[in-house]
Amino acid sequence: MLAMDYRGPYRVRVKDKPIPRIEHPRDAIVRVTRSCICGSDLHLYHGMVPDTRVGMTFGHEFCGIVEEVGAEVTNLKAGDHVLVPFNIACGQCHFCQQGLFGNCHESNPQATAVGGIYGYSHTAGGYDGGQAEYARVPYADFGATVIPDWMDPDDAVLLTDVVPTGYQAAEMGGIQKGDTVVVFGAGPVGLMAARSAWLFGAGRVIVFDHIDYRLEFARTFGPAEVYNFKEVDDVVVFMKKTTDGLGADVAIDAVGGDAAGNALQWLFGTKLKLEAGNAIALHWAINSVKKGGIVSIVGVYGPTGNMVPIGNVVNKGLTLRANQASVKRLLPRLIDHVKAGHINPKAMITHRVPLEDVADAYHMFSAKLDGCIKPVLIPNAA
Ligand SMILES: [Zn+2]
Ligand SMILES: [Zn+2]
Repeated sequence: MLAMDYRGPYRVRVKDKPIPRIEHPRDAIVRVTRSCICGSDLHLYHGMVPDTRVGMTFGHEFCGIVEEVGAEVTNLKAGDHVLVPFNIACGQCHFCQQGLFGNCHESNPQATAVGGIYGYSHTAGGYDGGQAEYARVPYADFGATVIPDWMDPDDAVLLTDVVPTGYQAAEMGGIQKGDTVVVFGAGPVGLMAARSAWLFGAGRVIVFDHIDYRLEFARTFGPAEVYNFKEVDDVVVFMKKTTDGLGADVAIDAVGGDAAGNALQWLFGTKLKLEAGNAIALHWAINSVKKGGIVSIVGVYGPTGNMVPIGNVVNKGLTLRANQASVKRLLPRLIDHVKAGHINPKAMITHRVPLEDVADAYHMFSAKLDGCIKPVLIPNAA
């Protein structure tokens, strides 16, 4: 089968690889119909994530047709069209029982923090992902979810990560009615966080980025007030001024360690790799939220140190909340929101690219060419 193949930073290609097989009675094999490239795939592509191994197939946002199921998978059958949450979760362990499906204790033998994730570095279990014609889906009886008949597969594929991640960012913000919410990052997750903030009762939603076409999209998709951080003198001072000197009630970091902006952070974190990336978005979030406020972090950071202003967190009495989205926990609510028209995920899809052109798609998405917001890879047979 054709599959994406990682060769090293900024180098990916398509390669002929063996079709995966059932390895465990709870596995399924899925013939992929759609597979997105995610902003967090770009962290891998940029060489920012430790233990990203040459030869891996990326892709944690995919849907497809069930081809074959293991002996213990009784709730799925060949021919079902399923969406596959990016978290690989057993559904049974101590953490899964609490709905922390991004922290499954069984699916990632390499770590005790994050659970397994498809197509990520070996710090997330080293599972091959869905940017391929076929994918092996472990714990398929728990994770893979049949797409409702009425749902457009373009909406379904975005329910595997960016929609629940943006939604959980807003949920973790503990937004109260009328709150001012500032979102750092106007990528698909930031866009969904801005959209979701309204569903939780926000009174004002502000989005920062430095890419104008994304800000323009956020203006209507959120909807949100949008600002280019390169065009304001100081993001934190700007936020104080626009909130009567108090700061936002809730700040959401939808950027992570691959941020632009701030030369010092870039030098230490990105260039010299003395830290786990450039944490400027998190700085802005901590410093522009009001005293007693909540900072919600869904941007991806490596596991090691960052120059984070922890003293400000203490002295302002902030609450930091963070996690990988627990997709399976949120899916019933999100499916209802799509059905009711409260969210329109597929509006974010700007590019549909044949799987064999995966290298071009990564380059376009990474370099922010052609107005790209969300590219979807389509295998030939889909
Ligand atoms: Zn993703
Ligand atoms: Zn588990």
